[in-house]
Amino acid sequence: MSGVNDIRSTFLDYFQKNGHEIVASGPLVPRNDPTLMFTNAGMVPFKNVFTGIEKRDYVRATTAQKCVRAGGKHNDLDNVGYTARHHTFFEMMGNFSFGDYFKDVAIELAWNLVTKEFGLDPERLLVTVYHTDDEAAGHWKKIAGLPDHKIIRIPTSDNFWAMGDTGPCGPCSEIFYDHGEAIPGGPPGSPDEDGDRFIEIWNLVFMQFEQVSADRRIELPRPSIDTGMGLERVAAVLQGVHDNYEIDLFRALIRASEEATGVKAEGANHASHKVIADHLRAVSFLIADGVLPSNEGRGYVLRRIMRRAMRHAQLLGAADPLMWRLVPALVREMGQAYPELVRGQGLITETLKLEETRFRKTLARGLNLLSDATEGMEEGARLDGETAFKLYDTYGFPLDLTQDALRQRGIAVDLEGFKAAMERQKAEARANWAGSGEAATEAVWFQVKDKVGASDFLGYETEEAEGVV
Ligand code: ATP
Ligand code: MG
Ligand code: MG
Ligand code: MG
Repeated sequence: MSGVNDIRSTFLDYFQKNGHEIVASGPLVPRNDPTLMFTNAGMVPFKNVFTGIEKRDYVRATTAQKCVRAGGKHNDLDNVGYTARHHTFFEMMGNFSFGDYFKDVAIELAWNLVTKEFGLDPERLLVTVYHTDDEAAGHWKKIAGLPDHKIIRIPTSDNFWAMGDTGPCGPCSEIFYDHGEAIPGGPPGSPDEDGDRFIEIWNLVFMQFEQVSADRRIELPRPSIDTGMGLERVAAVLQGVHDNYEIDLFRALIRASEEATGVKAEGANHASHKVIADHLRAVSFLIADGVLPSNEGRGYVLRRIMRRAMRHAQLLGAADPLMWRLVPALVREMGQAYPELVRGQGLITETLKLEETRFRKTLARGLNLLSDATEGMEEGARLDGETAFKLYDTYGFPLDLTQDALRQRGIAVDLEGFKAAMERQKAEARANWAGSGEAATEAVWFQVKDKVGASDFLGYETEEAEGVV
């Protein structure tokens, strides 16, 4: 059985043997890309290489890229703790061809890696292709010998990738592993509610076209390849477990959380330990890459993730701040592959300690208010927006924390009411401000605050470049 560190190096070594340059992970805060909240795919650091703006001295590369999907278009925050396969922070391993090889070689490299190097049983594998992509389907048949019923044609955008409204785009092909049985666990109402039997482990993107304008798409003279394989998902397959949170790395983190709280990861408590372990990684890597908690932008996403984990620590009955005590376990597991964790250990520890100490002052009172406000509520009920806003404004509860706290009981939050309460408070603040005599400056100040405030609590519904394989 191989641990995540071995799997990562097997992947990189394999592609290096096949002529790829091993490139270190880029940072979680994308360089020169203000449109993207966090790096959310392996191709992000190579965007300009794919569009041809930037040249490198290699045409094949391979990476294990740090990714965060906790905001914007790809937000997996709500899945964590409930599905077997989603994290907020994860590593996406990939191989890239910049105008060098294309579909046939990409498929052959992928198939050989999974079946020979990793030794997966071909019987357990199946693939999807974009419905019109006969070429890819043909390669899967010829190279992998897959029967037609295991080459599934998908007509939706899931199997067609685009960098943005214009720029490179093309069909993709995803490799799934059949775990044989479904395990329950998706959030109620989500596509994962019935559990995942087939887990997507790898996505191969064939950058075949360029979208020149809304209605014009041309064939690229030298098409490119971009792939993404989730390290934690393939580790689960290789370690014979169905749930990502059962792999060596997560077991170590969950064990640390069990020891620090004295509460076993069983029954209802299991999800809390998973959330804590997942969020510990996300917040530590974000701080190591220079993000600090704040009330806006990236810093607010960080704070939301932290506070959510802190509520789960509270649920487990932790009497003192917990998260900072788990940092050594994370550094032990991942510090060798990511030295920035070792360098940042002091800052990560202090930041977590300070934030949790502060938040605990209002957390317990906020939770009491929440339980009083929802007393006697049945499944399907809705918490009024006023209360959700009071929790946000007075007790520092990010909206998603309140939603998470109520989800197990099937209670939703009245979002319209929440927004209305927020607006009302802003209007009152404006009225109270009147009379200082600096009307012009004030108007500007409120415009800025309105803008910032709106993006803060709505979870960054801003337009963001696709940037995802
Ligand atoms: P899913 O449909 O399961 O949410 P996806 O299609 O959104 O996955 P891609 O954007 O294709 O994922 O990313 C490439 C690979 O990265 C996936 O095949 C998967 O192995 C991995 N991956 C994506 N999202 C996550 C996540 N939140 N946690 C862990 N691994 C992930
Ligand atoms: Mg997804
Ligand atoms: Mg998918
Ligand atoms: Mg995919």
